[in-house]
Amino acid sequence: MRVIIIGAGIVGIQAAHALLDLGHAVTLIDPDGLAQRTSRGNAGYIAHTDILPLASPKVWRHLPRWLLDPLGPLSIRPSYALKIAPWMARFVAASTPARIEASTLGMIALNGLALAAWERRLGALGLAQRHLRRKGYLVMFPTEADLAANLAMVKRQLGLGIEAEVLADNAAVRRLEPAFGARAAAGAHYPGGVSVDDPASVSAALGEAALARGAILVRQAVAGVTPAGGGVSARLADGAELAADAAVIAAGAWSRPLARALGDDIPLDTERGYNLTLPKGAHGLTRPVLFEGLGIFASPLDGADRIGGAVEFAGLDLPPNYARVDGIIARARPFLPDAKFDGGTRWMGFRPSLPDSLPVIGRASASPRIVYAFGHGHFGLTQSAATGELAAALVAQRQPAINLAPFGAERFRRW
Ligand SMILES: Cc1cc2nc3c(=O)[nH]c(=O)nc-3n(C[C@H](O)[C@H](O)[C@H](O)COP(=O)(O)OP(=O)(O)OC[C@H]3O[C@@H](n4cnc5c(N)ncnc54)[C@H](O)[C@@H]3O)c2cc1C
Repeated sequence: MRVIIIGAGIVGIQAAHALLDLGHAVTLIDPDGLAQRTSRGNAGYIAHTDILPLASPKVWRHLPRWLLDPLGPLSIRPSYALKIAPWMARFVAASTPARIEASTLGMIALNGLALAAWERRLGALGLAQRHLRRKGYLVMFPTEADLAANLAMVKRQLGLGIEAEVLADNAAVRRLEPAFGARAAAGAHYPGGVSVDDPASVSAALGEAALARGAILVRQAVAGVTPAGGGVSARLADGAELAADAAVIAAGAWSRPLARALGDDIPLDTERGYNLTLPKGAHGLTRPVLFEGLGIFASPLDGADRIGGAVEFAGLDLPPNYARVDGIIARARPFLPDAKFDGGTRWMGFRPSLPDSLPVIGRASASPRIVYAFGHGHFGLTQSAATGELAAALVAQRQPAINLAPFGAERFRRW
């Protein structure tokens, strides 16, 4: 088949490889070329050990405190408050015990495929050594109460076969990460944690490899895609029509209007995230670290140190508020007394987010020839290789590796 993929972020690129594996002819369409948006500047962690959706007791515990601080871990721009209200209402609806459990099971299923799919892809291309870093992962708990609140999650992870070790006090955390000062109360260490050398470098390498395998890149925006005859037709920004046998919509945070035009009103919005990239050694941490409850994620990349995170609801069009980076650094500083946070490069990315923290991986209601692969929120790098394989299975009418019912576009019609 001739398959077009709309969006050449990490998800579109991984879908291209999976479709090439099955012998299809692939055209990636993206006005910005290969992985120039969200996939370029993220924290680079393959979070296959994570099992909880954002709408979980973990977040609700912190929310009142977060919302009081305009530069805090989670904020809503006043001018976007009305627009995000329907998403928020669904986020609340996603927070019932039954829905949290359903989202958790979805995350467990998809993240359970994630690392093996990455290893398969990079391994097949001879790129694993160059791009995967196996230094483990640390969740740092600022207070003992944070540790206590997370013990049930760690227990569940252990039950799933995820290797985890509780670090009960400050000394245990500092043995692992000496850059932490006296404020780090406890931790959870995941020795199997894997990250990438740099999200920009691995995305570029995978993108180039897809082109070397025969994929074609068209630098244009897609204005719409529709079923046509037995296949599909994509209308490009310059007015040209591109006919194909099937299409994958992988346009990240920009996917909503493309799906809406196909009759699927999917509550996709963006959780904007910020970070600061500093010279190597600046924060001093040697593995990816989540600062629990503070909206901070620090990762050592091969050539730099990155620190960032936070969630800002402000849509796709408002300018970035880089003061949010100052907020992140102000919260991190007491924990990393020797870090050098001066200078560096500030960045903002658009996490494509659904209220239940699961992506949409499924067929458009208008045509089985149009497949959705977007909405990966905080886990797009993590889930991209698995999503690529699942999307390719749907295009090729093969049995996907997991039950995709929890990921269907139609799930939001019920709530
Ligand atoms: C601060 C931050 C840290 C993060 N850290 C991590 C992490 O450590 N681990 C993790 O797993 N995830 C992380 N994420 C999330 C991850 O970066 C995203 O989920 C992921 O990059 C989404 O990939 P994507 O391919 O769907 O979207 P994108 O990378 O945004 O790609 C979408 C592409 O679609 C193109 N496009 C848009 N509209 C059109 C159109 N009409 N026609 C054609 N093309 C179009 C865009 O140009 C873009 O290239 C982080 C995100 C942020 C913001």
